[in-house]
Amino acid sequence: MALAQIGVTGLAVMGRNLARNFARNGFTVAVHNRSPQKMHSLLEDHGDEGTFIGSETLEDFVASLQKPRTVVVMVQAGGPTDAVIDQLTGLLEQGDIIVDAGNALYTDTMRREKDLAAKGLHFVGSGVSGGEEGALLGPSIMPGGPAESYVTLGPILEKIAAKAEDGTPCCVHIGPDGAGHFVKMVHNGIEYADMQLIGEAYDLLRTGLDLEPAQIADIFAEWNQGDLESFLIEITAEVLRQNDAITGKALVDVIKDEAGQKGTGRWTVKSALDLGVPVTGIAEATFARAISSQVAQRAAARDVLTASTGDFHINNREGFVEDVRLALYASKVVAYAQGFDQICAASEEFGWDITLGDMAKIWRAGCIIRARFLDRITDAFTRDPELPTLLVDPYFSDEIAGGVGAWRRVVAQAALTGVPAPAFGSSLAYYDSLRAERLPAALIQGQRDFFGAHTYKRVDRDGTFHTLWSGDRTEVEA
Ligand code: NAP
Repeated sequence: MALAQIGVTGLAVMGRNLARNFARNGFTVAVHNRSPQKMHSLLEDHGDEGTFIGSETLEDFVASLQKPRTVVVMVQAGGPTDAVIDQLTGLLEQGDIIVDAGNALYTDTMRREKDLAAKGLHFVGSGVSGGEEGALLGPSIMPGGPAESYVTLGPILEKIAAKAEDGTPCCVHIGPDGAGHFVKMVHNGIEYADMQLIGEAYDLLRTGLDLEPAQIADIFAEWNQGDLESFLIEITAEVLRQNDAITGKALVDVIKDEAGQKGTGRWTVKSALDLGVPVTGIAEATFARAISSQVAQRAAARDVLTASTGDFHINNREGFVEDVRLALYASKVVAYAQGFDQICAASEEFGWDITLGDMAKIWRAGCIIRARFLDRITDAFTRDPELPTLLVDPYFSDEIAGGVGAWRRVVAQAALTGVPAPAFGSSLAYYDSLRAERLPAALIQGQRDFFGAHTYKRVDRDGTFHTLWSGDRTEVEA
């Protein structure tokens, strides 16, 4: 029997669909799962979709692969991934490639790559986005690892990846070691921000205009015809239109308002703190999920914390909808700009040499944050690869300038009426901080110098200075 060109171990929802995707694209695929039942059910249910070689043991699985062997590991992130890599290491030979396509923390990927490189194996940490459906029909793929491995791996991954409208595969070699998983992590962080912003827009429309979910679904469906066109806006309309079979109410009204999280938002924020990059949109979104899950605190606060809020007075309903749309768009651009800043900072810190425009390109299809405006981001970084922030690209700065009045009105309305809109508000504050002539940071430097002799710089001369606060308050050069 012919040997397999690629193998997948870990056949839960993601691995099973990824294996089917390889097979449907003409590759002979070796398949394995710790508990063999998942492997057998894949062959029973989908064996006719292509050529699979199923194995019950990892030894047989490895033996069924042509050399150099390429094994995709699609198991639970963390300990299970380490366990599977350990077992594989004993069975593979120099030059073979292990691809970890799970959601690994990029520092784990860096460690694993180093360990495996010392053993002569290529290790590729690869982000895969698009969920179950993406894995089957074409995900956005973000492989890191050695450039050398992309020579053989790249064409295979590009074949099964989603294709953008212009036919370009949504897969590119991101950079060495942890670069692929880092970019996937930030992608997920941006996804958090995008979802939170959409949630805030929905809340404002619902409260401000006293609309039913199905009516707001119509607004989102209309928005999806314009600049905001994206997978997340599209599915938001679908979710809002859904009625609950048991109660007949809108489904969104019977779902508990406690948002879960698996950890990639948290990872993104932690990494941003380490890198010193303000990702306020992602942070607010992550914290907003945490607040929503503080059930006991919310119950205690509900009756005690008075709000003295005003009512919405909306005379122009269409104008308000348009304001919310513009505020959503501007806040979304800020969240993406911040995510790209974080990728840029990590690329410099770790020497990854990531091309920012490529990131926007490979997120145009297949992934959860796919959106029309990613083309605009690609254009922006093509025009100027050294862009200090996406916000100063002429296209985006004009777009935001056109909507900034609306953005301010929406944030002000939210504050006055007591509708929490942390991501809208913090994005606007970030925008205003960037454009401010002077920030109160000067006062903070004064305070730091007062209590800790931390020194400060002056606007009118070079050098570092300290005021003798506890003495005669003269200034000395530090
Ligand atoms: P999962 O629920 O995260 O993991 C289940 C799989 O891991 C099963 O095949 C299981 O084998 C295997 N496994 C667990 N511990 C193991 C161990 N110690 N040794 C060997 N195998 C072990 O599956 P998933 O949802 O398909 O996700 C797979 C990976 O893709 C994860 O890293 C996930 O974070 C990532 N991911 C998921 C999505 C998504 O939408 N679900 C999207 C992108 C990325 P058994 O069947 O024997 O238990």
